[in-house]
Amino acid sequence: MIKIGLTMRVVLVTLGAVIMTAFAVHSLSFNEHKALYTRTALLNLDALSENLSHSLLPAMSNNPDIPSIATTLLQLDRLETILFAIVLDQQGTEVFRYVNQSHHSQSSEEIIPNTIMHSEYGTFLQEYIAISRKIIGEEQYKVGTLVVVTDLKPPMILANNLYGEKVIPLLIVLAGVISIFAYLMQNRVLLRLKKLTQHVANIREKQIELSKYTDSGDDEIGLLSKGINDFVERININNDKLERQYSQLEKRQRELEYLANYDVLTGLANRKLVQELLKNYLEKSSRDNSELVLLFMDLDDFKNVNDTLGHEVGDKLIVAVSNRLKMIVRKADVLARLGGDEFLIVLPDLESLEAVMAILARIKESFNKSFSLDEYEVSSSFSIGLATASNANYNPETLLRNADLAMYQAKRQGKGQYVFFEHALHLKVIRAQEIAMSIKGGLKNNELYLVYQPKVNGKGRIVGLEALVRWEHPNLGPLSPVEFIEAAERAGLVSHITEFVLKTAISDILTLKSMHNLSLSISINLSAHDVKDNLIRELIRSELTKSALNNNIEFEITETAYLEDFIDVETFMSELQSIGCSVALDDFGTGYSSLSYLTKLSIQTLKVDRQFIVNMEKSNKDMAVVQTIILLAKSLGLVVCAEGVETKEQFDMLERISCDIYQGYYFYKPKKLTELLAENVFSINELNKSKNV
Ligand code: C2E
Ligand code: CA
Ligand code: CA
Repeated sequence: MIKIGLTMRVVLVTLGAVIMTAFAVHSLSFNEHKALYTRTALLNLDALSENLSHSLLPAMSNNPDIPSIATTLLQLDRLETILFAIVLDQQGTEVFRYVNQSHHSQSSEEIIPNTIMHSEYGTFLQEYIAISRKIIGEEQYKVGTLVVVTDLKPPMILANNLYGEKVIPLLIVLAGVISIFAYLMQNRVLLRLKKLTQHVANIREKQIELSKYTDSGDDEIGLLSKGINDFVERININNDKLERQYSQLEKRQRELEYLANYDVLTGLANRKLVQELLKNYLEKSSRDNSELVLLFMDLDDFKNVNDTLGHEVGDKLIVAVSNRLKMIVRKADVLARLGGDEFLIVLPDLESLEAVMAILARIKESFNKSFSLDEYEVSSSFSIGLATASNANYNPETLLRNADLAMYQAKRQGKGQYVFFEHALHLKVIRAQEIAMSIKGGLKNNELYLVYQPKVNGKGRIVGLEALVRWEHPNLGPLSPVEFIEAAERAGLVSHITEFVLKTAISDILTLKSMHNLSLSISINLSAHDVKDNLIRELIRSELTKSALNNNIEFEITETAYLEDFIDVETFMSELQSIGCSVALDDFGTGYSSLSYLTKLSIQTLKVDRQFIVNMEKSNKDMAVVQTIILLAKSLGLVVCAEGVETKEQFDMLERISCDIYQGYYFYKPKKLTELLAENVFSINELNKSKNV
């Protein structure tokens, strides 16, 4: 549809109104004009025929005098409108007919029906034809009748034309002038409105900047544009404000995105981002049938650095380590920090295992050099678990879990080790989960029990018992404590076992005291998790207070557990010592090789690990190590206990280098208390001790 602008519409309406008015005026005056003309013509005709009838009276008084009639009627020649005139005698018979010579075309019969000849007298109009019938003579002495017929059409058309020629152009000119005037007038107002409308439309469509509109008028339009300007200004101010807020928001958004995806300390990808990337890489890898390897890396001894050198140095180590890793990885690889001391490297598109081995070698090599952090020189290494995408069915969670499992396995093998994931590891995890799930039930159903392994002095006299837990699992059979303690630790359930061991040991000490008059020291193994667990620490305190057997209880804690959380463990151990318990450092020699820290620990006894005792006979070096340990321990006022003594030779050698206490199959295997009592081991003569029982 054609859109007509406001100005045009106003002009068209005005023009229409002018034309209609002009037409109305014109037709009104035209009709008036026509009526006036007709009336005048009829009056003239009436007067003319009246005169003629008088003039004809003498010629009609006796017998009609035709020449005289003709002479009279010939006067009509001057009058163009006269069609014809007819003279009838007394009886109504036509005696003479005058026909105007200028009207040949029509005969009187055509124009006047015969009836008119005999209709009433007078002057009247029939269409454009005016007819006058007059009596010749007096009404009572009528001598004849005169009929005069005129045609008013030509003069009327002429008059009309004349009228039209003059009036209509005038009207047209008038309408044109009025229209132009209207147009100009409207334009003055409407143009401004139009401009304003366009301005508003532009603003709406944002085609232009929100600029001001200038209209100097002080009428409504001026006010309107001023109002719009005020609006625009307010919008501009708000826009500026919004824009500033928006850019601030954008900046915050970018910061948040960065925080959400990157590790602030190292600038590496974080857990979230690497998980997303891993997902994409695995999808691609699965599509292309290419191999991807994930390295799960955990810094060795990081906690120790944090605890002994402070978190600031710890953070610096993490940054330094990540910088070294950045130099090692290839462009296509992804390096990420999972948090704490855990890092991930994704190696996509691997052609062969060699590339992986090369990276492992480079990592190992780059960690040969220690890190200079402030005034400290810190050596570090990674335990690395590796897993392949194909082995994990290209599932990111599985891949991550597999690499984690392998890393865990590497940790167990010592520092700086790497382990490739294999499915046996997974089976182990599933078994560990089953074990962990049945711990609480097992304790409730009395599936767990204690055995005791006596410790003897150089003379073979039992000086104490080590409580060792056993589990007869209904589905899995007898379980090694090494396995189920680890499973319990991983599941956070080891404190339940410790609680059981402590309570059982305490009740066994009481039995020994009351029924056998024996006051023996019982050693209880604490897990690394126990010493960090406030609940179990509190339980130990309350059980000790309740039983008042502090002097009969020794706690064994491995050096790894002790040093992993040095400050915490040290606090708790010195607390236990201060209330009369003793503390032994278990498995000594398997963890930290530095001896210097020994002076800092609150312990009474050092238990030399079985691995040194086993090798002592064959290796002079091991013999020397054990000798040094014993010398050092003695100089620190510590008691030394040799673990895992299996032969007389081992015992003799240890005796020679002044070991204090012995524990091992050579003397006693761990047994139930009832069995030990039944064998009467506690009253055996000191002279026959050095024999396997
Ligand atoms: P451990 O504390 O070093 O305990 C000594 C382990 O060496 C015991 O193994 C014991 O049976 C074994 N043993 C003793 N003498 C000899 C010997 O002459 N030769 C050989 N080959 N082995 C000997 P067990 O009972 O299997 O315990 C293994 C580990 O399980 C323990 O090592 C300890 O770390 C953990 N464990 C055992 N019971 C508990 C417990 O109640 N709580 C905690 N947290 N851990 C426990
Ligand atoms: Ca032990
Ligand atoms: Ca041990």
